[in-house]
Amino acid sequence: MPRRCRCCIFCQQSFEPSPFRPDQSVCGQADCQRRRRAAYHRRKVATDPVYAQVVSDSRKKWRDSHPDYRKTYRKSHEAAADRNRQMQRGRDAKRRAEFLVKNNLALDLKRSAARGLADRPSGARS
Ligand SMILES: [Zn+2]
Repeated sequence: MPRRCRCCIFCQQSFEPSPFRPDQSVCGQADCQRRRRAAYHRRKVATDPVYAQVVSDSRKKWRDSHPDYRKTYRKSHEAAADRNRQMQRGRDAKRRAEFLVKNNLALDLKRSAARGLADRPSGARS
């Protein structure tokens, strides 16, 4: 006989799966169900380009119909705006560092390729 209770993948608490969903892995608490839907949404956006386009269009439509929302949100939520600014600075610094690493690597490869050609005996160049 199968085990009746199992643990929720989000809150790790034991729950009894619905008889209609025997392979249910998330309990019925509102917060866990919200997290389950958000995880589904993230996965769907990442894997389904049509779904991602619909989400993108919908967000753009909303932004276009609420043009001042961001400005007023930033004014009324200074802490969130500061945090966002700091996170963006972090992302910018990371991107800059990755760019430098990539370019230094390309330069090193060019330099060692040139050195490799110079090291060969003169008759061996192809
Ligand atoms: Zn749960």
